[in-house]
Amino acid sequence: MKELKTRILKDGRCLPGGILKVDNFINHQMDPVLMKSMAVEFVRRFVSVDINKIITVEASGIAPAIMVGYLLKQPVVFAKKKQPSTMENMLVTEVFSFTKNRSYNICVSKDFLQPGDKVLFIDDFLANGNAAKGIIDLVEQAGAELVGMGFLIEKSFQNGGEYLRSAGIHVESLAIIESLDNCEIKIKE
Ligand code: 5GP
Repeated sequence: MKELKTRILKDGRCLPGGILKVDNFINHQMDPVLMKSMAVEFVRRFVSVDINKIITVEASGIAPAIMVGYLLKQPVVFAKKKQPSTMENMLVTEVFSFTKNRSYNICVSKDFLQPGDKVLFIDDFLANGNAAKGIIDLVEQAGAELVGMGFLIEKSFQNGGEYLRSAGIHVESLAIIESLDNCEIKIKE
């Protein structure tokens, strides 16, 4: 998506270890106009897919997911990183965090992820696919169906995209970063 690629080249910053910082339009300060355009693009790319629920992981996935849910008029569920004491009927799975270099649990209530749900996962980044694998596990535990995964930014020099596509999942990424070597951002045309 041209608008996003231009913005990454203008405002994105490289951090050591293959991390792209997009704190001034996605991960801290957010640009709602760009966020809406990105959601419109997801809706266009998943137009032929039957979706009745959007799922994401807190916190950075929530903004794009709610925009997509708004456009599709479907509910948005976010997997929580801290298990609330008031939450019953939990589905839990472990996720390894690439940016924090540690594992954590994510959980969702069975009340909001149910057998028969046709679920679209939306997130900010696809790196090694660990968050995505956690979501696949939660969707399976719930007896729901994963119908697609949409990422704002995929880093194709990590192996998440290859893993998900070879598992037969419909993956859409709005910008694909081919390399961050020498702190130079290379985006796929
Ligand atoms: P994965 O689970 O695919 O290995 O990593 C995806 C998650 O890690 C995303 O939800 C995102 O929060 C974080 N992440 C991975 N790579 C980057 C990056 O380059 N920049 C930022 N800001 N977050 C990242």
